[in-house]
Amino acid sequence: MKFAISSKGDPVSNSIMQKMKTYLLDFQLEYDEDRPDIVISVGGDGTLLYAFHRYRSRLDKTAFIGVHTGHLGFYADWVPDEIEKLVIAIAKTPYQVVEYPILEVIIRHNDGGREARYLALNECTVKSIEGTLVMDVEIKGQTFETFRGDGLCMSTPSGSTAYNKALGGAILHPSLRAIQLAEMASINNRVFRTIGSPLILPEHHTCMLKPVNDVDFQITIDHLTLLHKDVKSIQCRVANENVRFARFKPFPFWKRVRDSFVGDIGR
Ligand code: NAP
Ligand code: MN
Repeated sequence: MKFAISSKGDPVSNSIMQKMKTYLLDFQLEYDEDRPDIVISVGGDGTLLYAFHRYRSRLDKTAFIGVHTGHLGFYADWVPDEIEKLVIAIAKTPYQVVEYPILEVIIRHNDGGREARYLALNECTVKSIEGTLVMDVEIKGQTFETFRGDGLCMSTPSGSTAYNKALGGAILHPSLRAIQLAEMASINNRVFRTIGSPLILPEHHTCMLKPVNDVDFQITIDHLTLLHKDVKSIQCRVANENVRFARFKPFPFWKRVRDSFVGDIGR
């Protein structure tokens, strides 16, 4: 089995990366940065987002594992103290794989040129470059509303605990193949009206965002910020691809939610 490790880059994460690499090589595993079967990310959730995008062309062949060197993460759920145990578990394959749905975003331009296709593990956000974002929201080919406000956030179930949560979106269990559209400060008065609630769309319910006036946008895909000019439409749906995590111990999603956000105070 071939593995790769990506580190957040700080001294603690780097030293854990080195340690794990040495251990895994001792177990006769092969280090291969280009074609790994397993990718271990050492750092935080942001480090795993980075690894996801580094290996996005081989998601069907790669299983991710996250070790956290800071606070408990949603993707990074192993602590440094457990790495010996983890290494032994990795070395004696086969391991269990859990798959989570991800988001597909296709951006088309008015000049009819090449469309840009992205995959997001957490979310895609759309904001205007200047002033209020005004966009028609279309669901399954039907106009739903004209959104006016700061921006829109389309998140995956595993990303629902990230930006989406800060916007008042619901936390979705990743076994649900769905995406969630949350508003950022919509303008609502006697003239302008949006739904005001987050929307959860099932698989195959494509959501199209279409510019009304301005055609230049600031679009984020996870940690990546892009400037897209002359945009015709932004298409979002549940991707055909999934992200795969190698699982060696049960750590239920709701326990992770509780440990991260409620802690012992809420007991
Ligand atoms: P960052 O500024 O370090 O990320 C913000 C926080 O979100 C960090 O604490 C990060 O954890 C955490 N996080 C990332 N994915 C998560 C998930 N699926 N569930 C729960 N928490 C999660 O930047 P980054 O590390 O590059 O991450 C990019 C992400 O930041 C974006 O995808 C977006 O979701 C999030 N973000 C949130 C807000 C907000 O809440 N208002 C605003 C902008 C962006 P780590 O410290 O472990 O990396
Ligand atoms: Mn981060």
